[in-house]
Amino acid sequence: MKPTTDLTNFQCIQCHACCKEKGYVRLTTQDTIAIAEFMNMDVWTFTDSFTRLTHDRTGLSLTEKPNGECIFLTEKGCSINPVKPAQCKDFPWKWRFSSFERTCGWAKGQRSSAE
Ligand code: SF4
Ligand code: SF4
Repeated sequence: MKPTTDLTNFQCIQCHACCKEKGYVRLTTQDTIAIAEFMNMDVWTFTDSFTRLTHDRTGLSLTEKPNGECIFLTEKGCSINPVKPAQCKDFPWKWRFSSFERTCGWAKGQRSSAE
């Protein structure tokens, strides 16, 4: 069972497992401004309501629901999709969490069809 990291045929199946994974969803300054605007909030209110300081105190992360999934994940998917953070837009092309192969719905499908 060889893990696949080849994304040549990657096609997101919208399983949203990545939005349930543990870890920070870090925000750039531009992300923060865009999401606040999208939500018709001022930056302070958005920051206060939906973000927290990362442990290394170098930036902000979105908060999570009590079950650990991203605060903006809904049954229909990401509720801020048009302005989702760069970290989310870059996944899985520019970075992947360590459990990607066994968590991402697409990657799991690739694995089982190769077995
Ligand atoms: S912001 Fe949207 S895409 Fe990013 S983790 Fe949250 S729900 Fe998922
Ligand atoms: S876990 Fe993979 S297939 Fe599922 S939504 Fe995220 S990127 Fe798409």
